[in-house]
Amino acid sequence: MTTCLPEPTLAEAVAHDELRLLYQPIVRIADRAVVAAEALVRWQHPDRGLITPAEFLPAGHEAGHMPLLDQWVLQRACGDLASLGRLAPAHVNVNLSAPTLATDFCHLVTSALHHAGLPPERLRLELSEGADLTTLTHAAPRLESLIARGVGVALDDMGTGSTDLRYLSRLALHGIKIDREFVGGMLHNPRDHAIVHLLTDLAHTLRLHVTAEGVETAEQLAALERIGVAYAQGYHLARPLTLAELASSLA
Ligand code: C2E
Ligand code: MG
Ligand code: MG
Repeated sequence: MTTCLPEPTLAEAVAHDELRLLYQPIVRIADRAVVAAEALVRWQHPDRGLITPAEFLPAGHEAGHMPLLDQWVLQRACGDLASLGRLAPAHVNVNLSAPTLATDFCHLVTSALHHAGLPPERLRLELSEGADLTTLTHAAPRLESLIARGVGVALDDMGTGSTDLRYLSRLALHGIKIDREFVGGMLHNPRDHAIVHLLTDLAHTLRLHVTAEGVETAEQLAALERIGVAYAQGYHLARPLTLAELASSLA
């Protein structure tokens, strides 16, 4: 008789130290300098090997384990940036999920910085566009207090949510990240091109930094530069790397 073991949960993955972080460089287009790296989580699953967020975050959301994951990522990413010493890029970007934004998350952020001995300016939080306006509004005072200490906050996947514009007017954000769907379409779909243009102009009027996500070709990079986008991230520039790979690429 075969017994069917229950699937391990994300909380168990954290407890068993099975999560891994990859770092994708964010590049200043003008001189290709690596200014930041975005931490991207993977799970070294006991049965399935290394799996991507799309495969385990939905169950993690449902089980209420996202704050545990975000806490682990914050701690590890701040520690990893500090461990890079003089090779390190100026910033590490960490994604914060909507369920975490609904909690009292300030101490997760400040304790991760404190343990790593990292000044707040080195950390940037990326807010999931999956967060609804109620969650974001609830989180705003806590985000403002982190921003006042120097932590950067960027709006991720810009253009895919319906609440972005209202949020842009409410919070002292550092920057926006234009969703890769628009970047992917901008060379053959004039509407996507127009949206990238519009978001960039809007962000610049608000004095926000603009990063384009999902840049896969030199042609896309050139088109973004013509529009005035200053920062880019994508397979054309660098894939998500292990910490060791990031260190040797920066050396
Ligand atoms: P995101 O924050 O928008 O991250 C960018 C995603 O685009 C990453 O997928 C990255 O590997 C992928 N990507 C980068 N360059 C390219 C490109 O040129 N082409 C294409 N097609 N894709 C590219 P990944 O790592 O699978 O993560 C997916 C999403 O899962 C993230 O989207 C983020 O929302 C979430 N996520 C990832 N890591 C974390 C984490 O540590 N914490 C939380 N809360 N969410 C995370
Ligand atoms: Mg992100
Ligand atoms: Mg994104």
